[in-house]
Amino acid sequence: MKSYDLVIIGSGPAGTSAATSYVESGGTGRVLLVSADRLPPYQRPPLTKDVLAGRSDVEATPIEGSELPDQVEIKLGTTVSAIDLAARAIRVGDEPVAFDRLIVAVGAQPIPFPASDADAEVLVLRSFDDAERLVASAQRARSAVVIGSGFIGCEAAASLAIRGVDTTLVTPEQAPQIDRLGEFAASRIHEWLTGLGVELRTGVQVTKVAAPSTVHLDDGHTLSPDLVLAAVGVTPGGEQFADSGLQLHEGRIVADDHLQVAPDVWAAGDVARAHHPIAARPVPVEHWGDALAMGELAGRNAASDDDDQQQWRDVPGFWSTIGDHTLKYAAWGDGHERVEVVESAGAYTVWYADAEDTVVGVLTYNNDDDYERGQIAIEAAESLDQVLDGAVPATDEQESPRDADG
Ligand SMILES: Cc1cc2nc3c(=O)[nH]c(=O)nc-3n(C[C@H](O)[C@H](O)[C@H](O)COP(=O)(O)OP(=O)(O)OC[C@H]3O[C@@H](n4cnc5c(N)ncnc54)[C@H](O)[C@@H]3O)c2cc1C
Repeated sequence: MKSYDLVIIGSGPAGTSAATSYVESGGTGRVLLVSADRLPPYQRPPLTKDVLAGRSDVEATPIEGSELPDQVEIKLGTTVSAIDLAARAIRVGDEPVAFDRLIVAVGAQPIPFPASDADAEVLVLRSFDDAERLVASAQRARSAVVIGSGFIGCEAAASLAIRGVDTTLVTPEQAPQIDRLGEFAASRIHEWLTGLGVELRTGVQVTKVAAPSTVHLDDGHTLSPDLVLAAVGVTPGGEQFADSGLQLHEGRIVADDHLQVAPDVWAAGDVARAHHPIAARPVPVEHWGDALAMGELAGRNAASDDDDQQQWRDVPGFWSTIGDHTLKYAAWGDGHERVEVVESAGAYTVWYADAEDTVVGVLTYNNDDDYERGQIAIEAAESLDQVLDGAVPATDEQESPRDADG
C-alpha cells in the first residue's frame, strides 16, 4: 500500500493553501494532494464575475501561490471514495492509500434545483467545467432566468446582463439578500441589478422547471428563457464520508478550534464546521478568503506537535462584486437585531449588532477603513454605539477593489 506522511483531499483554496503551509511550517515527508478537480488549483470567484460577463477569457486563473512545493505530489481528476480513520487510510478508486496525517478540504457542491423535470436544462455554477457550460449557453442565449438571490445569484445575474442577455432574477426574498443584509443593502443591490437591466421577480417561488427550460412561478406566471441557472445554495461535501467515523453536522465535518476533527486529522474550508473560540460557537463559512486561511492553519497544525496547535481566530468575511460594485462583508453570520447605516457620497457602511448591542457584522461599500474597523470591533465584541461614536467618515475617493477574492 502506498503511504504518505500527509494526505490532503481537495484542491480548492483550503486544500492548496494547506499543502503549501504544511511544507513552509517545516512539515516533513511525502505529501499527497488528491482532488476530483481535473484542473490544477484555480480561482472560483472570477467565474461568476468577469468570466461570465464576457470581460475575460474562459480560462482558469491559478490560485495565487498555488505552485506546490516539490515535496507535494498532486493527483487530479481522482475521487476519494472512502476514509477509514481506524485504518488510517483513504480509498482512491480500488486502491487504499495510507496516511499518518490527513486534511479534509472537499468543499461543497451546488444544490441542483429540486423541482425540475429530469431532462430540464437547469445549470449550476461551482467548477470551471460548470462555468464553461454556462458561458457556452449564454453565448447562444437571448434570455436567462437566475433562481436565487444569494451572492452567486446576484453576481451571475449582473454578469449575464452585462453580457447582453435579457436576465430575470427570481427570488422568494422580498429584495435580494434582505434576510441576511437588511433593507438598506438589499435596496442598493436591487438598484445595481435593475441598473444593469436585470428584471427582478421578488417574493416569488419557482415551483417547477419543465423541460427544456420553462420556469413556473407560484404567482401563476411562466417564463420561457433560453437559459436557467439555479443558484440556490450548496451542500457541504462531508456526507460522502458518512461512514468514516468523522462527526458530521448538516454535511459539515465537526472540528475543534484548531480545526482538528480526530487525532492527526483536520478539516478546512466550506466542509468544516469548526468551533470558533471568539464567537464561542461553531461558525460554518463559505468564503474564499476564509478557506485559504483555514487551509493555511490546518497545514500549519498538521506540521506541528499536539501541544503546539494554533486556534482559528479569524472573523469570517468575503468580498462580492455585483457588476462593477464590490461589497465587503465580515460577520459571524447568524443574524442581527439592529442595523445602522453610515452613508456618504459614493460610499456606505452598514453596521449590524445583536440584541445586546454588540457588533456582529459590517458591510462596506467603498469604505475600507470601516471594513477593517468592523473586523476589529466584531472580534473585540465592541458595542455598536462605541463604534459609531468613533466611526471614520467614508470618502468616495477610495479605490473599489475589483478582485473578489476576499
Ligand atoms: C462561482 C463562484 C464564485 C465565488 N465567489 C466568491 C467571492 O467572490 N468571494 C468569496 O469569499 N467566496 C466566493 N465563492 C465561494 C468560494 O469559492 C468557496 O467558499 C471556496 O471555494 C471554498 O473553498 P474549499 O477549498 O473549502 O472548497 P472548494 O473550492 O469547493 O474545493 C473543494 C475541492 O475538493 C475536491 N473534492 C470534493 N470531493 C472530493 C473527493 N471525494 N475526492 C477528491 N476530491 C474531492 C473538489 O474537486 C475541489 O477540488 C465563490 C464560489 C463560486 C462557486
